[in-house]
Amino acid sequence: MGPYATGRRKERQVRSTAGGEAKPLREQRYRELFRYAPEGLLSLDMEGRVLEVGGSCGELLPGHHAEDLRGIHLSQLAPSGEAGEVSRALRHAFGGNLQEMEISCAGGRRLHLTLVPARTGEGIVGVSVVVRDVTGRRALEEQLLREALMDPLTGLLNRTLFVDRLEHAVHRARARGEGLAVLFMDLDGFKEINDSSGHEAGDKVLREVARRLRRGLRPGDTAARLGGDEFGILLEDSRAPEALRVARRLLEDLREPVATGTDRLHLSASVGIATGCPEECSALHLLRKADLAMYRAKQGGKNRCEVFDPAATPRDLEQAGIREALERAMSQGEFTVHYQPIVSLKSGRPVAVEALARWKHQHLGLMLPDQFILSAEQTGMIVPLGQLVLEEACRAVARWRRRGKRLRLGINLSPRELWQQDLPERVVGALKRAGLGPEDLQLELGESALLQEPEAAAGLLRRLERIGVGVVVDDFGGDRSSLGLLKRLPRDGLKLDRSLIRSLERSGEDAEIARALIDLAHRLGMQVTAKGVETEEQAALLRGMGCDLAQGHFFSPPLPEQDLPSVEGGSQGRKKSALVLPRPSSTGHAPSGA
Ligand code: C2E
Ligand code: MG
Repeated sequence: MGPYATGRRKERQVRSTAGGEAKPLREQRYRELFRYAPEGLLSLDMEGRVLEVGGSCGELLPGHHAEDLRGIHLSQLAPSGEAGEVSRALRHAFGGNLQEMEISCAGGRRLHLTLVPARTGEGIVGVSVVVRDVTGRRALEEQLLREALMDPLTGLLNRTLFVDRLEHAVHRARARGEGLAVLFMDLDGFKEINDSSGHEAGDKVLREVARRLRRGLRPGDTAARLGGDEFGILLEDSRAPEALRVARRLLEDLREPVATGTDRLHLSASVGIATGCPEECSALHLLRKADLAMYRAKQGGKNRCEVFDPAATPRDLEQAGIREALERAMSQGEFTVHYQPIVSLKSGRPVAVEALARWKHQHLGLMLPDQFILSAEQTGMIVPLGQLVLEEACRAVARWRRRGKRLRLGINLSPRELWQQDLPERVVGALKRAGLGPEDLQLELGESALLQEPEAAAGLLRRLERIGVGVVVDDFGGDRSSLGLLKRLPRDGLKLDRSLIRSLERSGEDAEIARALIDLAHRLGMQVTAKGVETEEQAALLRGMGCDLAQGHFFSPPLPEQDLPSVEGGSQGRKKSALVLPRPSSTGHAPSGA
């Protein structure tokens, strides 16, 4: 129903106006206006009966000839259910207040009435009514409202309406002491379907899933598309066992392949279930729990359902809070990227930059990755965050290129990102969008990521290698480094761990290890970058050992794009650059920016 409910009225105080025209002329004008006005006009006596009919009343009030209207009470124009409201409006109008209201009439039309008290010097002598047809406008409003609340692709409710329904259901369940279940369903591998079979096929899949959900649910259940390939299902008066049964049945329904043009696509989904203890839960709380359980289902191997585990509640909810904070930060653009130059130890010039995520928290100020990367990793938010860093950094490198500075880009990957089978495609997409090629990018993988997911990592790295994107083993040479890793995986480079560099000058043994690693890497055809170089002595030692590249505060800390002057074209003619590496004979001092 539109925002103007049946019989809704508005009031305004009306003042009489004094005209300056000669009376006969004025009357003549009014007569013409009354006759030809595009609205319908009615003049009522003090009882509310029609005295005169003007304007387009004949068209607006089908079935009523002007003559028939004379003498009838205004309330007779409205259906009986609205007659009382019309009489009330009339009373207010006779009291001197302009009234606005809507009535229904034959053929489902809606008429808007403005009741204007008619005054003379002696006071109110009747009421004039302006009648307008607002059927089209109301229909449009209703359509807009529907579109705002329904998902146009699938015809299911959208997230807003689903949360609203859920809130009502929570209240009802609380009042009646009943249970309530929310299912959070996320299609498995939907991104691949979209990428390989095209968006039309993707849309078809979503419509088909919606159709099967509708088919598989009871009339009182509610299904919604929450966004992308996520669906929400509300089961009123249901507890965990029944919700689990429904979820399994829905998963079973999805197995039947979907035909999209030439393909027959096999679908599966992961479903999280949260059942209500509505005394404690808000709608959003429940939805978040179901989301977390869905996430577990994904982790547990997909194509399965998982019921939210109350035993894990505090940790899960803490995670949910963190995830929400990260999502909010992401949507409000609080994440940004800083760049640390990677310098050739031979030329002293930057040849690459490492992109490092930063969170400009609205209250806490600039936060470093140590404060959020692990949480992002645990909550899965690392995937969108990693994508944001990748896209933004590719654009920055392209901007430097346009200004004549060619730099490779280093991007860090977390273990979680190695699960993403679409990573190579996403990487290629980001490079293409920025106008870069695969040779412009190297992905940095910590040893822990490589060791945690050796199988996934090996497969993915091979695909990246085929594309031509570089892969660098990050933080090598720490306490737990494995030489075996270097043999097994495709890799183009090695970054020596900061802990090793830190002790170069103090420990002869560490210096020997560093030298041996550099030699070994070179024999395996890898370039070596030293990390965390903070002093001129470290830089000199590493150069002596034949180390290729270095990064660290001695050269430059990570900085925002606009603060990296030296990257824009070396040292010549610019203010003293933090990146001008002292030549072997130089006695230059470490820069102050470190
Ligand atoms: P990382 O890959 O080892 O990055 C280098 C870190 O060393 C950066 O820390 C950098 O600020 C710091 N660093 C550089 N030079 C020096 C130095 O001379 N001395 C010292 N003490 N530190 C130096 P940051 O920016 O805090 O990043 C920490 C870690 O967070 C990164 O370690 C990386 O593993 C992770 N990270 C940062 N951005 C991202 C990202 O976008 N995605 C992922 N997955 N991880 C990221
Ligand atoms: Mg790194």
